[in-house]
Amino acid sequence: MLVTIVLAIAIVAWGPGIGATAELPTTEIAAGVFVHSGVQEDASPANDDEIANIGFIVGNTAVAVIDPGGSYREGMELRAAIRARTGLPIRYVILTHVHPDHIFGASAFRGDHPDFIGHAKLPGALAQRGAYYLRRLHETLGDGADGSEIVPPTVLVSSRLELDLGGRKLIVRAHGPAHTDTDLSVFDLKTSTFWLSDLLFVDRIPVIDGSLLGWLDELRQVTAVPAARAVPGHGPVSVRWPQAAAPEQRYLETVAHDTRAAIKAGIDIADAYRHVAQSERGHWLLFDDYHPRNVTASYKELEWE
Ligand SMILES: [Zn+2]
Repeated sequence: MLVTIVLAIAIVAWGPGIGATAELPTTEIAAGVFVHSGVQEDASPANDDEIANIGFIVGNTAVAVIDPGGSYREGMELRAAIRARTGLPIRYVILTHVHPDHIFGASAFRGDHPDFIGHAKLPGALAQRGAYYLRRLHETLGDGADGSEIVPPTVLVSSRLELDLGGRKLIVRAHGPAHTDTDLSVFDLKTSTFWLSDLLFVDRIPVIDGSLLGWLDELRQVTAVPAARAVPGHGPVSVRWPQAAAPEQRYLETVAHDTRAAIKAGIDIADAYRHVAQSERGHWLLFDDYHPRNVTASYKELEWE
């Protein structure tokens, strides 16, 4: 009986799955900056929606998570990776934008009671899309989606927010409509690391879900910021800055140029992608999966210019 009780207490104390939770592999790209490399695929049961670059930054007194990942499971694995390195409190979980592959791991950090930090427009975007994203996650991952939840941000950023991790300051910036309407970037002053998340795609085709012209505008601004390195939302975990933004800038500029030409030539929106930025095919992974919808979105944005 006593043995049973002790065992039961032990199980409760350890919580479910501890010991069973694998550590998400990460690379320390600069002192105290850890990034997990997302696979360059769409979400599937095989990859558990671990497709985005996510990670964490460790200061002297606290840890900040930059994107908790694509599912509760990935969030737990990220948390295990943090706990393997430090026992410091996880004080901040930054949600860089509304997309599911970046935010569904947030529920894994609830017990840490962090500030969940998001763009001022994130609550509205989650209200609009959250239920759909969650349904789709369950359809795609099956049991792999269990525990995943929409966690609304508790701290909103409309322009700029400074976070203190102890001897280490992070600058969080809210951007105008670009990749999405809810994009945040994070700058680690200590190592001059610019974490752009999905404002920067490398190798994988950029997804236009905010504003094509807005994104080009934001790119002009962020590429003027000097940094020792950048972290893209998809692509290598660390890239040269601002050189690594050049292909994305070229793609977006070509889409803008060719879409305007297609509109002027009277080409129908449904056919426009066949005439727009085909020179970019071969430069990008998942081109055929996302290029047509990028062109449709751009056409809608540019047709009333
Ligand atoms: Zn995204």
